[in-house]
Amino acid sequence: MTNTNINATTNNTHIHNAGYSSSRSITQVIDTSLPAGKQLRTTQSVLDPLTVSGLAILRDEVTSSKETAAPRFVCIECGEPLSLPKHPASATVPADGRGAYFKHAFIESAPACSLRTKGGVHDVGAVQFAGQQEGINHHALKLALAACLRSDPRFSDVQIEKRITAEDGTYRVPDVSAVLDGKRITFDLQLATLPISTIQDRNDFYRANACHHVWLTDAADLSRLSRQAFCDLHLTTGGRIFAIDDASIAASKGQYQFQLQELQLLPRLASQLAIHNTWDKNLVGIDVILMDPQRRKAEGVQRYQQALSNKAEDAFGPELRMLRDVATKNLDLRLVSAEWRRISNSISGMEPASAKSLQLDAVMAFLSASEHYSKARPENRAMIAPKLQRRLTTLLGAQSALHWSPLVVQVHQTFPCVQQALTPGNAARLNTLLTSPDKVKPYLRYNAGMLSVIFPWLGFRLLAKPPKFAPNLRISARR
Ligand SMILES: [Zn+2]
Repeated sequence: MTNTNINATTNNTHIHNAGYSSSRSITQVIDTSLPAGKQLRTTQSVLDPLTVSGLAILRDEVTSSKETAAPRFVCIECGEPLSLPKHPASATVPADGRGAYFKHAFIESAPACSLRTKGGVHDVGAVQFAGQQEGINHHALKLALAACLRSDPRFSDVQIEKRITAEDGTYRVPDVSAVLDGKRITFDLQLATLPISTIQDRNDFYRANACHHVWLTDAADLSRLSRQAFCDLHLTTGGRIFAIDDASIAASKGQYQFQLQELQLLPRLASQLAIHNTWDKNLVGIDVILMDPQRRKAEGVQRYQQALSNKAEDAFGPELRMLRDVATKNLDLRLVSAEWRRISNSISGMEPASAKSLQLDAVMAFLSASEHYSKARPENRAMIAPKLQRRLTTLLGAQSALHWSPLVVQVHQTFPCVQQALTPGNAARLNTLLTSPDKVKPYLRYNAGMLSVIFPWLGFRLLAKPPKFAPNLRISARR
């Protein structure tokens, strides 16, 4: 575990040794989400502070915006859109923002640019796993999936590799498809080997052609859960993913009702360990399989954060109430050193003195005010806005403000109303920090566990990532 399971000192050493992030060829980018003329940012400040989940969310935004009129990041030299691949996570390459880099998006007619690397950089984002495209059981799994659908009388026209053609003549070939209530349902297996651009392309195609598309995986695929697009995919679907296994096949055929296993990412608190993730596994029917993707995602994030909140309450209820009280009242963190220590010792967080020196109390006061503001009825917000603005002014003026600016951005993404409440002064100061050439330290990652137990609404953004161990799924070798 390399996330929060370390104190600030060793973590710092670890970060500075990270050669992959300093070897990026594009070191500055134009961030078009910032006000015109104030958009130049260092790659370091954009990427290095990101959590695994934060990177997945940003990659999703970059991929879906790069072929639009408003790509999120463009090259400082040629103005062409940039893509955001990442190196495969390994013992030496973290799965978070430090393992990512910018490169020019592939566009055929693009102008020459001195920052465009000529095949020198290994674009892992698009690498196919050669020779594993059709795993030994891939075809057998398609047959099994089709058999499950055929055993359910609600489905008709169950087909393997049937071409779906759009009006303009373009087509895709889903592994399996079927019709339910007049609507075509399409299935693709083995998504671990697909780049995120292909995943998005298929999602877009099927949506445009009135198909409900379902991605699913199998036991063999799950060993690749930490890889690139697969990681992005389940983190951008609220940590939920469908799988086919012996149990779902038996249930579908035995009950004549199509079912799949649904894996849900959940946080786990265990004494002396950083908060980590596990898979929860449940058989689900078509109510979940055919759920609207946005709703399924929102529910998944909600379930993750509720589980985190419940577990944190069980383990540290009284201490959390004290810490939240200090945050609500904007008090000094030293008043609750004992409570902070009891939690941080248990989840491998920072010592209270270190937390104080990073101005965690100003951070907590801002987070508490943001939560309060977002929960308030819109007509009452004007009254409490000044408190939120004052606390943000304090945080953005703090000595450690540069290193907390990525957190402020995450809060704005979570609660757009909080961003709308920025004073012109707040906005200008935040922009100055985001465009600073100075190195941003990942205070956010160091404190992801502590901030998530105190403010569970940040939990998915800060903590969600692929578990170290695959779930217990069985799929028979012979089928
Ligand atoms: Zn360029």
